[in-house]
Amino acid sequence: MLSTKHGSLSRPQSTIATTSHPSKRDGGTAKESQRGARKYRAHKGSNRFFLFGLVMTSDDNPLPFLASLAYMVALPVLWFVFVAPFTWRHVSPAPVIVFAYVWLVAASSMCVTAWKDPGVLPRDLDPDPPCTSGGSGDLLDPEDPLAVPLPRVIRVRNGTDLKVKWCDTCGTYRPPRSSHCRVCDNCVENIDHHCTFLNTCIGRRNYFTFFAFLIFSLLACFISIAFCVVQLYLLTRPTTQRLPGGGFGEGKDFGQALKHAPLTAVVFLLSVMVTAPLLTLFGYHVRLVGMNRTTVEQIRINTTKRYGGTEDNASSIGGDEKGQRWWQKASLCPCSKLGVPGKDPNPFALRTVYRNTRSVLCRPNNRSWIDRRGREVIDRRKTNPGWVQPQQQ
Ligand SMILES: [Zn+2]
Ligand SMILES: [Zn+2]
Repeated sequence: MLSTKHGSLSRPQSTIATTSHPSKRDGGTAKESQRGARKYRAHKGSNRFFLFGLVMTSDDNPLPFLASLAYMVALPVLWFVFVAPFTWRHVSPAPVIVFAYVWLVAASSMCVTAWKDPGVLPRDLDPDPPCTSGGSGDLLDPEDPLAVPLPRVIRVRNGTDLKVKWCDTCGTYRPPRSSHCRVCDNCVENIDHHCTFLNTCIGRRNYFTFFAFLIFSLLACFISIAFCVVQLYLLTRPTTQRLPGGGFGEGKDFGQALKHAPLTAVVFLLSVMVTAPLLTLFGYHVRLVGMNRTTVEQIRINTTKRYGGTEDNASSIGGDEKGQRWWQKASLCPCSKLGVPGKDPNPFALRTVYRNTRSVLCRPNNRSWIDRRGREVIDRRKTNPGWVQPQQQ
């Protein structure tokens, strides 16, 4: 057993996790023990897996996610029952069909975001990092209680040197822009944030679907609000006025219209309630995408600024936006000069908002490191009978 003060450096001797050929069946008893279990079963993070590892969530409290899912289902159901029939008959079938499509995309994006591997990094890639004690530059034995793992310097684009830290839990040097999620207990590539309402991290592999979820949820809310208003408005039209999709107005005043369709007003209020936070979140992420930043990086920059830090001590990307105009800071202007040394401290930022957006939302979706179909390979090697245990000094 390899063990050091850095905790998770133990490596089981009975099994060695390596890539293996997936077999046709999951489960089994004798064969399972012969071939080794699926790798997702041996995953060390705080995650739950369902459907043979196809669905992956955090091990945290699932109630906020279940509440979000219930809202995502209940609101459209109410809309289809109390708003859609009137809209279909008296306005046009088109809004109902468009709403159904938009809602389906929003719901599927939500499920994919919540249940997909966000980009969890493999563990124990660097089990023995070079260590030193705080003040001196001398290398120390990792077993030494005073040993501190040295950061590794990586040169990235534009010749910028970044320090990457060794993760105490995962036993791996984190790649740039990665961070350890305390809730999921994993290092996640390109982590944006841990989303309580989706019960997962938002990282490299599910950011696109998260962004699609925000856009299509907002669209669904706008359509819902608009046609609730249209229904209440058309109910107040005079009985002689022909409605766009057929039929006539009912000549009610606003109070009578509300009494006639009270649940339309309820759907309207529920839609408005969810639109406000979604719109704020969407606006925030549009700005981040335009700057090629993640939420974690933005929080680090804000924290560094608050404590009077400079670009050099703002973690992997700096915290200085000096020299930028307000529209460059807001990053909504396509001609903003992002990524110019001295202007934007983010070495990953490109020169225009268009390029940043393309870089964040159109990058290839790499494969999951968890390799859920792979099997652990059982180490069946026996000790060489000629090997003699060395004498302890
Ligand atoms: Zn980690
Ligand atoms: Zn997480």
